[in-house]
Amino acid sequence: MKIKIAIQKKGRLSEKSLNLFKECGIRFENGIGNLKMSATNFPLEVLLLRDDDIPQYVEAGVADLGIVGQNVVWEKTDNVDEIRRLGYGKCRLSIAVDKNYNYKSISYIENLQIATSYPNILRKFLEKNGAKAKIHKISGSVEIAPGIGLANAVCDIVSTGSTLTLNGLKEVETVLKSEAVLIATKNLPAEKQAVLDKLLFRMNAVQKAKDNKYILLNAPNDKVETISNILPGMKSPTIVPLKEEGWSSIHSVINENDFWEVIEQLKKVGAQGILVMPIEKMII
Ligand code: ATP
Ligand code: ZN
Repeated sequence: MKIKIAIQKKGRLSEKSLNLFKECGIRFENGIGNLKMSATNFPLEVLLLRDDDIPQYVEAGVADLGIVGQNVVWEKTDNVDEIRRLGYGKCRLSIAVDKNYNYKSISYIENLQIATSYPNILRKFLEKNGAKAKIHKISGSVEIAPGIGLANAVCDIVSTGSTLTLNGLKEVETVLKSEAVLIATKNLPAEKQAVLDKLLFRMNAVQKAKDNKYILLNAPNDKVETISNILPGMKSPTIVPLKEEGWSSIHSVINENDFWEVIEQLKKVGAQGILVMPIEKMII
């Protein structure tokens, strides 16, 4: 049974989404087609769409899965399953006002007329905070709205903030922190769920590999015990004697988040010749 996944045809998420399939070992027939691509070695068909349409296609079951920004999912529907975050396309949806506006707290929101392409998310944010503001729904170039007198604030996607600065605006509230997510139709039939599980297994192996590094180091034998305790590894570290009497080589896996802290501890207790290498896939 084939599974259909919708991804962005052209834009910030396209290349990274295609790369994710590549890292999962999935290959396609004739490169990137117009609307559809079929995988040659996995039961997968890819639909290439505008990102705004992806949540509805998945909700309706035209596509079983989709890859799209959380900002788009939350705006369009709450009737799909969010399966996993994908770690790319990171940005935030923020409220911004004129840089000279003396905005101190959420209670100042009452005085705002906010231009946005995200009226649903913004409405929920205002409700949650017990705040009232006027929402102007517009579909593009939101950041110019204050300059032309349509509104005195915007609620829009920000990553570095340079577009806001360019338009004389400053960020005052974060509404949502977003990244690309894998979504699925609710109640996926069992055969399709089985294909999804296979895909998730591969995605997990790719993600785990990115989060971890392979580490090799040399240490005097009397330090092996101390070093093994610093390096938990997958089960326990591999210890191999060196040709030089009284020395061992220790191999293990460390998490990217603990990386520098672990290296500092290792050096302190006498580890030498530390090598750190990327891992391509990690199955545990
Ligand atoms: P489409 O033609 O498919 O409608 P688009 O112009 O709406 O494309 P892109 O600008 O390609 O969309 O952005 C796609 C997604 O990338 C956004 O919805 C958001 O989740 C994410 N993203 C990450 N960083 C940024 C950024 N700096 N600006 C805009 N979107 C970003
Ligand atoms: Zn779009």
